[in-house]
Amino acid sequence: MVVSGMPPYDDENIFAKILRGEIPCSKIYEDEFALAFHDIRPQAPVHALVIPKGKYVSFADFGSSAPAEFVHGFNRAIAFVAQKLGLEETGYRLIANMGWNSHQEVPHYHVHILGGRKLGAMLTPSQD
Ligand code: AMP
Repeated sequence: MVVSGMPPYDDENIFAKILRGEIPCSKIYEDEFALAFHDIRPQAPVHALVIPKGKYVSFADFGSSAPAEFVHGFNRAIAFVAQKLGLEETGYRLIANMGWNSHQEVPHYHVHILGGRKLGAMLTPSQD
């Protein structure tokens, strides 16, 4: 689906290549809805990415076009991965960047799971 502010899905994006097994990843978990792996440039002691097994550019695309059962399964996978990483007791942060202002780099919907230390304020002051 085309979402305003985002190009159409690009089959050559890096996460599409990971899903097809063309590029390796440090896998944490996989099921029919999701693949989870460690971020290559971690921003916290624990930094995982969870990506849906489907051609969704962004949160907006996923939320508006994925079947309800898929959305449910994907969200359950995120919670399961956080638990598997041992973050449930101490807490964690989920981030889904969407579009230009959010600094979304990879145009395949993904959710960051960050934890392993106190993460501080949600946003740093603007550098603009
Ligand atoms: P975003 O800015 O929300 O699009 O986040 C994209 C994330 O993907 C960044 O945190 C990158 O470090 C991460 N990333 C890019 N390439 C890879 C890769 N090959 N394996 C794991 N993480 C990656």
